[in-house]
Amino acid sequence: MNKQSRLAMAPDHPLITVVVALAVLAGMVLLATRSSGESEPPEQTHGAPVSESEPPPPASGDPDGLTEVDAAAVAGVEEAELPYDGDVSVAVTYPVIPNAEPLADFLERELTDEVHAFEAANPGAVSFEAGWNLTAARDGLLGVRMTRVETDSEGSREGYTTYWYDTATAAHHPSAALVGGQEQLEELNGLVRGAVGNGDGGEGSADPDVIHPISSLYDSVGFNPDGDLVVEFDAGQVAPAEEGRTRAVVDAGEAEGLLSELGLRVRDAATVGVEDFSIAAPPQADKDGQEDGPVPGQVSAVDSGVDCSDPDTKCVALTYDDGPGGRTPELLDALAEYDARATFFVTGNPVMEHPHTVRRAYAEGHEIANHTLNHPDLAGLGAGGVRSDLDVVQALVYRETGYSMDLMRPPYGSTNESVASVTADMGLAQILWSVDTLDWKDRKTSLVHDRAVEGASDGAIILMHDIHGTTIDASRAIIRDLDEHGYTMVTVSQLLGTTTPGEIYVDGVPDAPEESAEPSEGAGEHGEEDEQAP
Ligand code: ZN
Repeated sequence: MNKQSRLAMAPDHPLITVVVALAVLAGMVLLATRSSGESEPPEQTHGAPVSESEPPPPASGDPDGLTEVDAAAVAGVEEAELPYDGDVSVAVTYPVIPNAEPLADFLERELTDEVHAFEAANPGAVSFEAGWNLTAARDGLLGVRMTRVETDSEGSREGYTTYWYDTATAAHHPSAALVGGQEQLEELNGLVRGAVGNGDGGEGSADPDVIHPISSLYDSVGFNPDGDLVVEFDAGQVAPAEEGRTRAVVDAGEAEGLLSELGLRVRDAATVGVEDFSIAAPPQADKDGQEDGPVPGQVSAVDSGVDCSDPDTKCVALTYDDGPGGRTPELLDALAEYDARATFFVTGNPVMEHPHTVRRAYAEGHEIANHTLNHPDLAGLGAGGVRSDLDVVQALVYRETGYSMDLMRPPYGSTNESVASVTADMGLAQILWSVDTLDWKDRKTSLVHDRAVEGASDGAIILMHDIHGTTIDASRAIIRDLDEHGYTMVTVSQLLGTTTPGEIYVDGVPDAPEESAEPSEGAGEHGEEDEQAP
């Protein structure tokens, strides 16, 4: 006989019946108490009736920052550590989420490039640390915000980048893709200039004039829990570094009309709390991040509205070497007045001294090109020296603008096979010139003006240096007169069209049909002379 059959016989044993009845009653009371306590949060006990489908919880985060999603809500998320073997100390982690492997691959590549650029641009680089948090995980979208701390001989600075990922297509997007296009980014930039502050109650001392609608500045954009658009700038980017993070919050209503379709989806995803999120299947397609159209904030040095191969269009390329200098902004003003473009062959220290001028020139459609770190005679350096000298400037300009330069100019026009091979490998075409103003030697405004204007012809590349005040003064008149003579002032890339890395170009005049295009002939005419060291 087992226990159950004994209980079944309870009616024959009154004492057992009472004990069982009491036990059942106590159990029911206990259950009732517990279930009411669990199903009703305290605030609902004396309020509206409990609805069957509860509204989603509110998003969390500061009004001054991007929404924060608890990573624990994402199924299976793990953290990977970036492998790196270089001289700086690197501690970088990023998320790996099941069925979002293309995101992890992208983050690994992107972060590796960032560490490389930091190391290349900073002779005093000490360490690079970065961690991550999620700012959206909903409706097929993930927002990953990276916070990094770069330490060099000058100290430590914090910076931010936020990436957006579509779980269905595997497309990843930079933050600037949240706005509809370049025009919308320019409009947003105007609002941001009026709203920048450091978030500590004070407005900080951010300089609105150094904020331009370019991808390097709009690389951490998202929404706060209320749906206002938040743009964050790295320490030192638009305000003194000691002020730390600078942010601008743009009211949801003002931002709405500027958002892309992606931006609207992101906003909706970032304004709702996330309790659990998982990606059910791998992406249907792996676009590997290829954007379909132009990405806002990536300013092309080639204007699609200008065709230099059209016989009715006379194109000339003004080029300025060794800068930027303190008066380069005046030159940019003059170029803007005539809707003219120029190319700036920049060197290392001037970029470090005038990063805002480099960003402005890039933002205004001028071309930035590599003129080496230390302005050496490259023909006298080994391949390793050539590469490292060019690498630093490539990294400096990339970090300021997000732009990877396609063109370089060897100092003094001095080049050889080794330089050709290194520049070919680095994706840089070598650009010389067809008109030399000798502006470094003859610091006379009228002389520089006359040499430029009289030397100009369709396809010419004119050499000047924006570190000399006389050249800045001459340029105002040069730009005015070339405009008057019917020239379109274009970037070198616009003048030349597609260039081949490593090749030498002297001008944009098409080669005569029977001549074989032997580039070093041109180099011989113009090389080994003329240009001074800064
Ligand atoms: Zn030079």
